[in-house]
Amino acid sequence: MTQLALVTGSTSGIGLGIAIALAEAGYRLVLNGFGESEVIDQAVADVAAVSASSPIYVGTDLTQPQAIETALAEVIASEGPISVLVNNAGMQFTAPVDAFPTEKWDQIIALNLSAAFHTTRLCLPGMKAQNFGRIINIASVHGLVASINKPAYVAAKHGLIGLTKATALETAEIDITCNAICPGWTHTPLIQEQIEKRAMELNITSEAGGRALLTEKQPSKQFVTTDQLGALTRFLCTDAASQITGASLPVDGGWTAQ
Ligand code: NAD
Repeated sequence: MTQLALVTGSTSGIGLGIAIALAEAGYRLVLNGFGESEVIDQAVADVAAVSASSPIYVGTDLTQPQAIETALAEVIASEGPISVLVNNAGMQFTAPVDAFPTEKWDQIIALNLSAAFHTTRLCLPGMKAQNFGRIINIASVHGLVASINKPAYVAAKHGLIGLTKATALETAEIDITCNAICPGWTHTPLIQEQIEKRAMELNITSEAGGRALLTEKQPSKQFVTTDQLGALTRFLCTDAASQITGASLPVDGGWTAQ
């Protein structure tokens, strides 16, 4: 039977790249995320183009625990257990800690951290029953080190790495692994606002703004690609990776080596 892979936040950016990589590896994809209907249709079509079986789309708002519970119960009841869970959906908001809007704090913790707890707790019983599972949490370099003006994001991503380790220990004796991938700057809509802000501050083009961000933090001075993150995710799903668990894997052009 075709195994199911759920990638949260897969209508865009890194999640879409990972969904395509897993579809190419033969998984049936459960896609999730927001966007204009044309954007969602395009993401579903991009994944369908490389899939043997048609992808499923669920538009659940992952900041709502009850909605996650309902959506996952429906998918699992009709399609079977989720074999691969990629917790990727995330958002960013930048401001100093003493000026950080409390509703943004709550929203970022709900999406970037608590959503992964809910999907993990709801997918694990099915993984345990079939004696196989792969959980991949898309954390960030900000799960390992901090930057200014990102208190909620840094706290959520550090928390996500803690959840990764705790889940890995609890599943260590079965063929279920839980790992975190920690990307550095990856050119997606999530960082576009930060690029534009830097370009405005320095009165330079947005391309030069992107280069300025890279120069500051990422020694390779190149963006990570969504294809690279898809390929690593696909590898973590293989038998060759069955002894990699509880790990936090930086894909950051040397950012965290500094
Ligand atoms: P993106 O903005 O391109 O994609 C985010 C996805 O999450 C979209 O599909 C969006 O619709 C979805 N989403 C947003 N709010 C949601 C909600 N409430 N419920 C369900 N889905 C929701 O961003 P991206 O850069 O592809 O980021 C993906 C992940 O990678 C995030 O967790 C982010 O923190 C992490 N990350 C990104 C970078 C980077 O440089 N882009 C670096 C490190 C980590």
